[in-house]
Amino acid sequence: MARGLGLSLRRMFNWAMSLGAMDLGIDLGTANTLVCVPGKGVVLMEPSVVAVKTGTHPPIVPLNGRAVGYEAKRMIERTPENIKAIRPLKDGVIADFEVTEIMLRYFIQKVQRRSWGVRPRMVVSVPSGVTAVQKEAVKNSAINAGARRVYTVFEPKAGAIGAGLEISEPQGAMVIDIGGGTTEVAVLSLGEVVTLQSLPVAGDEMDEAVITYVRDMYGLEIGHRTAEEVKIAIGSAYPLQEEVSYEIRGKDIAAGLPRRLEISSAEIREAITSPIHRIIDAAKSCLDATPPELASDLLNTGITLLGGGALIPGLREIISEETGLEVHVAEDPITAVARGTVMLLERLDEYEDVLAGD
Ligand code: ADP
Ligand code: MG
Repeated sequence: MARGLGLSLRRMFNWAMSLGAMDLGIDLGTANTLVCVPGKGVVLMEPSVVAVKTGTHPPIVPLNGRAVGYEAKRMIERTPENIKAIRPLKDGVIADFEVTEIMLRYFIQKVQRRSWGVRPRMVVSVPSGVTAVQKEAVKNSAINAGARRVYTVFEPKAGAIGAGLEISEPQGAMVIDIGGGTTEVAVLSLGEVVTLQSLPVAGDEMDEAVITYVRDMYGLEIGHRTAEEVKIAIGSAYPLQEEVSYEIRGKDIAAGLPRRLEISSAEIREAITSPIHRIIDAAKSCLDATPPELASDLLNTGITLLGGGALIPGLREIISEETGLEVHVAEDPITAVARGTVMLLERLDEYEDVLAGD
């Protein structure tokens, strides 16, 4: 009875506190940060990049502190020596706390309207490779940026919820989240991650592979932005019904001059085959580590692909062929984790236990 009363008082308190405050769900990704608001969906999606003046401490961000996100990504590989563009989460760990905090604060302020001084609650998803200390740092950054209460959640869990998978049941569900810096493969059951493989091979590694391929085959040096552009335009993991080609520009290594090159989808597929197969191997070893009852559930539920990498044509087919399981691509895979954080926010009472361990 007393416990029930305590619970409903707490609910009323939470409800009163939420009036006027805009709670936020945040996907702190290695490539992109997304901010989501209950009832509104995704309100911000920008690259997780910050430009800083080199050698300054604390870090000084150019353009009066505005060289964050899109502004900063435009600067990658185009900066003079005194400025560098940093991706603070590049390898799925928080490499630079101060820069992460600057970025988080900037994005939060960008979407927030001041509302009677009521501070919002936030659910922030973090890569499962982060340590307890780094999680605390993320929480502190969000508090410093104005949060009243911060919950962190592991990315694959938020992603599975965002993709509409039923993870609270005693039944296995598997997700593969292919982001920029990391791929996370997870089997979940009863709201928890049961088996996890986190590997530093994802979209960035594919871009690197394209750069190496073009250099080795054509003696042409291209930048990361061009590599990503051609990968997104014509990249694939399985032969296409109709192969296409794309024009890229770079610098001829021998002549030292700018040059154009027409490259085919078959060539890009060959270039990225090694990172793709490393992702498939991680999926297989995650399956191998999964207890038999849960593994057999996957014959019904299959595998769900999330993250930007899920958009590569033919990935679904090749993973299905290699694992023998049905593979689905989540609806709007790039926003699945962010949408999951908001679903958690909307049902915090119900999910408080699910979040406790994260
Ligand atoms: P993170 O969660 O690590 O921030 P995202 O899920 O936002 O990463 O995915 C970013 C990665 O997805 C980048 O490497 C990007 O190049 C890649 N990507 C985005 N769209 C596509 C696409 N249509 N085809 C292939 N790769 C894509
Ligand atoms: Mg992600």
